[in-house]
Amino acid sequence: MFGWLRKSKRRRLAAKPFPSDWEDILAFNAKFLESLSEQQQTKIRRSIQVLVAEKNWEGCGGLSVSDEHRVTIAAQIARMTAHFEAEYFDAVLSILIYPTAYMAKSQTQLAGGVIVEGNSGRLGEAWHRGPVILSWNEVFENVRDHYPQRNVVIHEFAHQLDMRNGSHADGFPTLESADSARKWSRIMPAAFDELTHKCHLGIPTVLDCYGATNPAEFFAVASESYFEQPAELENQWPEVFELLDDFYCNRTS
Ligand SMILES: [Zn+2]
Repeated sequence: MFGWLRKSKRRRLAAKPFPSDWEDILAFNAKFLESLSEQQQTKIRRSIQVLVAEKNWEGCGGLSVSDEHRVTIAAQIARMTAHFEAEYFDAVLSILIYPTAYMAKSQTQLAGGVIVEGNSGRLGEAWHRGPVILSWNEVFENVRDHYPQRNVVIHEFAHQLDMRNGSHADGFPTLESADSARKWSRIMPAAFDELTHKCHLGIPTVLDCYGATNPAEFFAVASESYFEQPAELENQWPEVFELLDDFYCNRTS
């Protein structure tokens, strides 16, 4: 689609009244909204309208996609990019939803930029310039805070941000300035080594040991913590918190 046509269509979508039954979904499945300003909430609701309309939402494994699936997942994507300029993950055309963890060959990063999560059953996948695949059970339990530190939607879309500058996710997304890139190179590999060390010793921290798998998983797991347990992350990993705060919130574009 031409850029101007897409922009104009998005403006029309964002200007439509937000459906009242979607508000009911947000009240249960997007409690994070309560802590945000009116302005941020408005931006997120507009993004939800665009994401719901633009993505191809596909149910797999017998799941029939409903507004609850679409609005809940779109809310998390919009939350993650609330400070970005009009970010709708254009390279992700489809979001595939399985009812529960689904069985598949287990590998962490396949050739060609495919990342899968989970051991015997997958919880989510992110494909370079391809779909994001999610387990609804995991999404639902995350948004209802059954596991306060986890957020599979943010995790998979962090991989998508990571793969913007190359098909291989390496935990090093595109950054705003050379100074940010220098800081990232200094802090993130050292923090990854520290987490690996702590996990070997069995020392728990706010960062799940899945983040010690490789630098790409470290960035995705740290992103989950940044949104789900920011105070704990700031307290335990202050430099990682500061970097992610810059990355997700202090943007000029
Ligand atoms: Zn991952």
